[in-house]
Amino acid sequence: MLKIENLHVHYGSAEALRGIDLEIAGGATIALVGANGAGKSTLLKAVMGLVKPSRGRILLDGKEVTGNSPRRMVQLGLALSPEGRELFGDLTVLDNLRLGGLALGVSGVQFEERLAEVCDRFPKLAERLEQRAATMSGGEQQMVAMGRALIARPKLLLLDEPSLGLAPLVTDEIFAIIHQLSRSGTTILLVEQNAARALSASSYAYLLANGRLVEQGESAALLSNPSLRRAFLGAASEQNPAASRLGAAGLTNIRLEKPDMQQNFMPSFTSPEQLQSHQLRGLQWTVRHAYQGSSFYRQSFEGAGIDPEQINSLDDLSRLPLTSADDLRDGYPFPLRAVPYEQIVRIHASSGTTGKRKVLAYTQKDIDDWVHFFARCYQMAGVNVLDRVQIAVGYGIWTAGMGFQLGAEKLGALAVPTGPGNIDLQIQFLLDFQSTVFCSTASMALLMAEEIHRRGIAERINVQKVIYGSERSSKSMRHKISELFGGAELFDITGLTELYGPGTGIECSHHDCIHYWGDYYLMEIIDPETLQVLPEGEWGEMVVTSLCKEAAPLIRYRTRDITRIIPGHCSCGSILPRHSRIKGRSDDTFKFRGVNIYPSSIDTLLSNIPGLGSEFQVYLLRDGASGRDQMRLVVERGQGVESGRTPQLLHEMIHQFKKQLLVTPDVELVDYGQLPRSERKSQRIFDERIQDEIV
Ligand code: ZN
Repeated sequence: MLKIENLHVHYGSAEALRGIDLEIAGGATIALVGANGAGKSTLLKAVMGLVKPSRGRILLDGKEVTGNSPRRMVQLGLALSPEGRELFGDLTVLDNLRLGGLALGVSGVQFEERLAEVCDRFPKLAERLEQRAATMSGGEQQMVAMGRALIARPKLLLLDEPSLGLAPLVTDEIFAIIHQLSRSGTTILLVEQNAARALSASSYAYLLANGRLVEQGESAALLSNPSLRRAFLGAASEQNPAASRLGAAGLTNIRLEKPDMQQNFMPSFTSPEQLQSHQLRGLQWTVRHAYQGSSFYRQSFEGAGIDPEQINSLDDLSRLPLTSADDLRDGYPFPLRAVPYEQIVRIHASSGTTGKRKVLAYTQKDIDDWVHFFARCYQMAGVNVLDRVQIAVGYGIWTAGMGFQLGAEKLGALAVPTGPGNIDLQIQFLLDFQSTVFCSTASMALLMAEEIHRRGIAERINVQKVIYGSERSSKSMRHKISELFGGAELFDITGLTELYGPGTGIECSHHDCIHYWGDYYLMEIIDPETLQVLPEGEWGEMVVTSLCKEAAPLIRYRTRDITRIIPGHCSCGSILPRHSRIKGRSDDTFKFRGVNIYPSSIDTLLSNIPGLGSEFQVYLLRDGASGRDQMRLVVERGQGVESGRTPQLLHEMIHQFKKQLLVTPDVELVDYGQLPRSERKSQRIFDERIQDEIV
């Protein structure tokens, strides 16, 4: 729509603009960002015809308009909301708005129509049309200035420093209106000192310094470009510590001044060879550390005839003995401990019934490493310091909440720790805080998506990304969540308590694999029956070996998760290795609505209720209409137990399930001997939830 070519502007002998080239397509919101005196306002004035360029051309819809009068530019469809508002303080709001139509001769019914539009957009003005402009607050004056420009129904709206001098809350309000204008198709050229705000409100941006364009690109990319932040966006705060106080007045963005804002959490490796040599050093360190620090590993290595000094290549990994969940449970409460107690700063434990809990200890370095690669997960999902991350996963002894929280803070984003459940609160916070990222289990995400749809608020929330983990999800489920969240992008995040917690890998923006952090752990895929390592590309059980974990190192730990390593590099360009989404488990455990359930704990629960038999079947179903998971349980009555006791038994079972496993199943009691028996282990779990293909 607008094209500027080699534009120069002089004020006397001083050159304010030194050859600007810039382009705005119809419907776009473009930001022009720069420090005070960079030439931003001069550029807007030149476009509006308020100053004469000394060289260069301005084209509107392909026709040259360089040097046109301001009046002519308004007639051609441009309108400016100037810096400092420039209202007539003694005139009423209404009269100020009338001025916006002056150059076009808008009056009478035509003006009333446009006035109604403006009042619609700025309800605050509607109540105060007769008030003197000078008596309005800064935010309201800004609304008058923008309203005055909109009376002209411009096809290109030029906004000069709309947030200048406004408190953060008012700035939020003004930017919400800018977002609305942009969504309704108005083309906007936004000039702002508040770089972060401008970049987050626009799709493309030009950065101006000393009258020159120093950088341009997609706003999202500019926001997360570390050198740019340092050189340009961070400048105000580094040179001027007082800037954080200005931030409170809306002059700069405080959140850009967070110390970690320039961090990059991706590894610096550029070749697979570099990664492999890092991995070998990590493996050698881990084996030696485990042998020296942990009696469990020492015994295990000695039993297998392993000399910890004889690890010379990554191929030696397969000589080491496997470790399993049983080893962890046997070592309760400090399994695999390889450091003195005083170095342990935290423990976490897996969900699971008493006696089955897996407890893992962390040193401070373990925590730091975890937080670092969790921030990497966010980075890979394109989350940045301006995001507001609503964390609807469990806090407490579980690793999840803590990981999501610390990772978000490390990244410098705003964390909204809501915890799981409490749908009303979740919805309220999505609306009030305009959270841009929602983290939860897949079933919780689905539940929220449906609630958003039921309440019809998809247009009013601002969730761009859903990061979900700890459960399998089907393609159709993903599609539904994305759609009902108003088109949010989905990221499957992986992890397990034993290996730090969640965040050990995440799906990239190309969405056909999970990248895992090969600089923190090694992954092998084994055949769960023969325990032999399988070649890349084949499905099998994931086995992991940590490379720098201190308190409880993992060596060839059997995760029981079924996946495969995807050979070759991802089209996203990341060097980090990748695997497929988790397809299932190689044991009988299953996840139901985020809770990890062992068939043996169902066994124990049932055997503690007198009157029930030992045989049962669990059916896991997904309701086609609601997409929600359901558990159906078929249990035998004990031998000789009368059917008259059925209601009492049902009641007791459901009570115990709720209490111990946090699940409410549909239960059917059948006569003793009704369920099939087999000499081999009977199949008891029938997971019918996932019907479509997993990538
Ligand atoms: Zn990728």
